[in-house]
Amino acid sequence: MKESKTQPGNSNHSSEVVIVGASAAGLFTAASVARGGRPVRVVESKPQLEPSARTLIVTDHFRTQMAAVAQDSVINEIRRFELFTDGRSAQIALKKPDLIIERSRLIAALAREAQQAGTSFSFDTRFLGVGPNERGLHLEIESGGKREELHADSVVGADGAASRVARAAGWPPVETVPLVQAIVRLPKDCPPDTTRVWFIPDDTPYFYWLIPESPDRAALGVIGEHGRDTKRCFEKFLEKKKLEPLEWQGARIPVYRGWVPVRRQIGNGEVFLVGDAAAQVKVSTVGGIVTGFRGALGVAQALLKKGAGRELAALRRELGTHWMIRRALHHFQQKDYSQLVDLLDVSARQSLAEFHRDESTRLLWNLVRRQPRLLLLGLRGLLMGRRSRG
Ligand SMILES: Cc1cc2nc3c(=O)[nH]c(=O)nc-3n(C[C@H](O)[C@H](O)[C@H](O)COP(=O)(O)OP(=O)(O)OC[C@H]3O[C@@H](n4cnc5c(N)ncnc54)[C@H](O)[C@@H]3O)c2cc1C
Repeated sequence: MKESKTQPGNSNHSSEVVIVGASAAGLFTAASVARGGRPVRVVESKPQLEPSARTLIVTDHFRTQMAAVAQDSVINEIRRFELFTDGRSAQIALKKPDLIIERSRLIAALAREAQQAGTSFSFDTRFLGVGPNERGLHLEIESGGKREELHADSVVGADGAASRVARAAGWPPVETVPLVQAIVRLPKDCPPDTTRVWFIPDDTPYFYWLIPESPDRAALGVIGEHGRDTKRCFEKFLEKKKLEPLEWQGARIPVYRGWVPVRRQIGNGEVFLVGDAAAQVKVSTVGGIVTGFRGALGVAQALLKKGAGRELAALRRELGTHWMIRRALHHFQQKDYSQLVDLLDVSARQSLAEFHRDESTRLLWNLVRRQPRLLLLGLRGLLMGRRSRG
């Protein structure tokens, strides 16, 4: 990846959009804005584009967003889900396969797209702060160990869950939860096109998963609420399944608890947030790639004055539905999960096969139409949540 040096205080760059963070959401925004004709600079604190490996699962919606670029990062396809709880199981055969993507390949492909569209990059450049100036915004950065200033009309914070851009511009911090994932050998009894999910509410209100990335390797992971407990439960789970970790992957993931407005005016300039920085994560399954891209597209449209409203309103509805599902599931006890799996009869499984989790409203309506008792179970979950908060 070619780097162009930052040009401190250069007034020729006053109309430039500066994007902080060269990862999934930032690079997607950069490519979209640069293609639309605005000059874009991405600043990234790491010395070069060297994303750590991460095995991710996304729905087929990813293909629509990425077109040809997607092909480079897809390493496997998932055609079936198996859900387990307390000795019970349910299988769901997907109509459109989910995709397993390798994050380092995805980021390399997105960076190529962004660069081809005209984006310039400044690595080893850490964002420190932002404030108004007479032309728009001045950014304080540290580049190669030296403090400098940059000017921009617009800044996009794509700097992840602990976003410094968000803090500097006055957004409150987002809550995060730990996600731990280990690469393991694929168990002999697990087909490489099948994802397994275990609901074990004594360990976590979320779930464990096994995602095959090839015929012989898979990612086994868990989301928890507290770092140390999550790691301890995960190690026990690995032991129980007789699996050896070959590599570790992990980070803290934002918890969506309501829409984070993506724009703030500072003087004559504007600051936006995209991806994890704006908690654009489906909190039911804790997936942030597809929703982060949707947020990035909405912000790119706003920067290009192309009417971002519709994309962002649709994303808000989507994230809201996942928040409702999470609230319903979060206080489930073992008996509730057992009932959930028992209620997944042929017609309910058909809904789960036809609609994916990036069209959650359609999925939910279809599901409760075919299996109304799921609605009662969900309402009970919501009520339990309310009582425990009360
Ligand atoms: C182990 C693991 C598994 C996951 N699995 C899935 C999955 O299966 N499906 C799914 O959809 N999602 C998954 N996620 C979530 C998904 O990876 C994230 O939602 C997504 O990567 C967020 O991208 P982002 O660009 O918003 O932020 P990040 O990827 O966090 O990128 C932030 C970037 O900003 C840079 N930066 C930070 N601070 C500064 C600064 N001050 N100055 C300059 N640069 C800065 C960082 O170096 C980084 O490059 C997983 C996450 C983890 C950790």
